[in-house]
Amino acid sequence: MTVKHRSVSQLSTFSKCGEQYRLEKVARAPGRPAAWFHQGTAFHTVAEAWERNYRQDFPGDMLDLYETEFDRLVAADMEREPNLARWMTGGRVKAEDDIARRRVRGAEQVQGYMDYALADSGRVWRDKDGLPALEVEFRLDLDGVEVVGFIDQLWEWPTGQVGPRDLKTGSKLPDWLVQLGVYRLAIEDLYGFLPMWGDYYMAKNNRPEKPYDLTTFTRERVTRWFHDLDNGVKAGVFLPNPGDGCRTCGVSDFCSAVGSRADEYPPIPKEV
Ligand code: SF4
Repeated sequence: MTVKHRSVSQLSTFSKCGEQYRLEKVARAPGRPAAWFHQGTAFHTVAEAWERNYRQDFPGDMLDLYETEFDRLVAADMEREPNLARWMTGGRVKAEDDIARRRVRGAEQVQGYMDYALADSGRVWRDKDGLPALEVEFRLDLDGVEVVGFIDQLWEWPTGQVGPRDLKTGSKLPDWLVQLGVYRLAIEDLYGFLPMWGDYYMAKNNRPEKPYDLTTFTRERVTRWFHDLDNGVKAGVFLPNPGDGCRTCGVSDFCSAVGSRADEYPPIPKEV
């Protein structure tokens, strides 16, 4: 299989644990489900729908939409993995309790997002045609390596400055802001201006973190990281990195360092 493009998710996974990258993206080992994925996806769907409709919807409809979307995603994963004991959860919680809890918690986060957005003096930026910049698709050519993805939102702060915003439903901020740094370059290619700032909206707090200065994410640096990723993958360099990340690793069963079923997906010399 020829890899046609790279993504922020690939760079992030490869830099944290090469073995996880190999199992997820090269060997395609089946990952364990987790309700937190569906909470995040359903939240994004609803936030986008509400903003795309210029916040015209009745709030109750948005909460219904969240629950419908969450239930649909959970049901699809239940078919794939009916054994709830294999589902990952946050802590010692049973999967069925975790699913029920996240169904409620995600709806609260949707309500929190709408309350926040209506009170904030910033807004989703609109392009020259007046369309809100949501789930903005990009294809970034970094000196021969194509990086593709979607930016959750371009946010316009009250100062008039505009930058990328990513919506997070998890509890932790990323250790590395490279995601926002890549979006910065994508925005320059798409719209002709290079943002200085970017931020994360943290649904657990119903508000964004303070904006981060993204100026260290230059095109030269980001290009080098993606070329290093590309070269590493093509060379089959996939080192495991056991540590905190193993707790939320969906392919840990098959990991050559700590998994009990590692023989089912043995390391291969090169990406195929
Ligand atoms: S279990 Fe840990 S070391 Fe193994 S692939 Fe997952 S994150 Fe990497």
